[in-house]
Amino acid sequence: MRRREPEDRRVQLLQAALAALAETGIEQFTMAEVARRAKVSPALIVHYFGDRDTLIEATFRQLVERVTTRPMDALSTGGDPEDRLRAFVLAHLNPGELSSEASRAWLSFWGLALYNPALARLQRVHQERMISNLKHELRALVVADAVTRIAETIAALIDGFWLRAALAGAWKPDVQIPVDWIFAVIERDLADSRLPEAGAKPVAVSFDTINPATGEVLATIRIDGQAEIDNAVARAVEAQKHWARVPGVERGRILFRAAQLLVARNEELARLETCDTGKPIQETIAVDVLSGADCIEYYAGLARTIAGEHIDLGDAAFGYTRREPLGVVGGIGAWNYPLQIACWKSAPALACGNAMIFKPAELTPLTAIELEKVYREAGLPDGLFQVVQGKGDTGRLLSRHPGIAKMSLTGEVGTGKKVMIDAAGTLKHVTLELGGKSALIVFEDADIDEAVSGALLANFYSAGEVCTNGTRVFVHASVRDDFLARLKHRTEAMVLGDPLNPATQMGALISREHMDKVLGYIASGQQQGARLLTGGKRATHLAGNFVEPTIFVDCQDDMAIVREEIFGPVMTVLDFTNEDEVIARANATDFGLAAGIFTRDLARAHRTIARLDAGTCWINTYNITPIELPFGGNKQSGLGRENGLAAIEHYTQLKSVYVAMEPIDAPY
Ligand code: NDP
Repeated sequence: MRRREPEDRRVQLLQAALAALAETGIEQFTMAEVARRAKVSPALIVHYFGDRDTLIEATFRQLVERVTTRPMDALSTGGDPEDRLRAFVLAHLNPGELSSEASRAWLSFWGLALYNPALARLQRVHQERMISNLKHELRALVVADAVTRIAETIAALIDGFWLRAALAGAWKPDVQIPVDWIFAVIERDLADSRLPEAGAKPVAVSFDTINPATGEVLATIRIDGQAEIDNAVARAVEAQKHWARVPGVERGRILFRAAQLLVARNEELARLETCDTGKPIQETIAVDVLSGADCIEYYAGLARTIAGEHIDLGDAAFGYTRREPLGVVGGIGAWNYPLQIACWKSAPALACGNAMIFKPAELTPLTAIELEKVYREAGLPDGLFQVVQGKGDTGRLLSRHPGIAKMSLTGEVGTGKKVMIDAAGTLKHVTLELGGKSALIVFEDADIDEAVSGALLANFYSAGEVCTNGTRVFVHASVRDDFLARLKHRTEAMVLGDPLNPATQMGALISREHMDKVLGYIASGQQQGARLLTGGKRATHLAGNFVEPTIFVDCQDDMAIVREEIFGPVMTVLDFTNEDEVIARANATDFGLAAGIFTRDLARAHRTIARLDAGTCWINTYNITPIELPFGGNKQSGLGRENGLAAIEHYTQLKSVYVAMEPIDAPY
């Protein structure tokens, strides 16, 4: 509970900021005015938000969160798509919000977003989310061609009502009227384009996957809709019934063959992964495919050992437990380690006797398709590992599907929450591997060269697109200068370039949009007073999405670059002077994925690791994830664990059996 206090305070300050924005407008908006309204000192506002721009951005971020919460809840309430669509529109036109300060602040948000890139991004994401949610429901109601048009019409009408409410001041509309009106206007569209019969129909839409280093289109992929997911689940259900009865030893043999096939295809698959992700071939050939194969081999071995226990209950009875599969499980992957993530999820799932339907990220759909082929070639019966394709909408179809017993997601914190909400509708198990902003601590007695190696690996491997990255590098003040000199020298020697060239050490970021996000963070770091030690720019001599390895010094704990996950090659270095202080600062985050320390003092190493609130930790190294060790995060970085024996618990359920050995002693 104590951890939440700063967050409560932050929310209180943001509410005061929202009230100030709504009442006085952006021109008069000052940190002092917010402090006055919140009855706190201006220094506290600076402590939390740094400067006025950051405060404005945080306020609007919270406003977006606020106006989106009810509509998102409405979508997860069940019912048929038309009911959900109505509830969604109604929730957007919530009279409390329309007539409150929120609508006035919303108006300034729209205006400001025209000139401020960070707010523009926020606004765009909000718009895209609203349209994508509308489209999701509409797909079950109308033919594919009409989906976008109708979704955009509804969004425009909702936006129009907000605008009207803001301009009209204390307007207290009867929202049922606009809702009916919106539906009357679109009724004709719905009638013209309604699906011939209730229920779903395959959605024939596709997307291109692009090489981020060159912009080349690698493939066009068909998006799977409700009908395809229903079909995949039905096939998986049938296949799993038989698979659950196959002895573990036999399941293991098939998995072992799959691992061997992956190893044999390492070079070809590494090349494909490099083209799809932009990561250097020197990484994908050493890690991505082989670590996936290693995982499959590990669970191939474990499959024959999965067992329950015998429980002695005296002479009259005994009990035993059976560790049984869950059934059909859904996997959703992120784009940074596409093949490895598919293996980390499918191998334990299959070893435990489940079927898996896996959706890779839309940005990196290719290697999961190859994994499906590998499993089939290894002898895995049809239907047990199926890849479906699409964006978040397709993922939602999995999370909400009543035929799926568990979801395992690797992705952002926000996506994790959505999957959990969707999964709650049918009370699925969930495993969530989410984002982080991990701390790497270099004590004064550390081997400095080793610590620099650790910091480089913790920030620039895969161009920084690694969830566990130690992006908050805390360095003891007494060794700071030495550490920075060596760090700068080695960073500037890194080779950026064509990911397919074996000499390249850092490749391209996944997409243009992601590169813009990373560059936006770099700009915000400079605006907030952090100093660039090196890097900080797009590498324009290269055609794709390349950003220089970037190191910020003179950072403060409350800067956006220190608090938020950037998921790019951006390291922040912070000074500290004592152990208690650095542990408190390292733990002062909602994330809790990973942490690392460098020290030669054995006692301090273990003492400190025990106090760090993170699920995956390293002493005197960073980012090594052997399959034998459970992997996952604390706090908002995740739920459950992947890898190791721990994953077996997450892909099975226990059945307790009581066996009577004596006649029943019935009292009647
Ligand atoms: P996202 O959360 O954006 O996407 C992850 C996956 O979820 C994608 O396949 C995405 O589809 C899908 N998705 C998006 N919205 C929904 C939804 N509402 N319901 C179901 N599925 C949905 O993450 P990124 O792909 O951008 O990956 C980066 C993030 O992943 C970072 O935060 C990183 O820290 C985290 N990560 C965590 C790891 C861990 O083990 N803890 C490891 C690797 C990454 P699509 O992209 O096709 O729209």
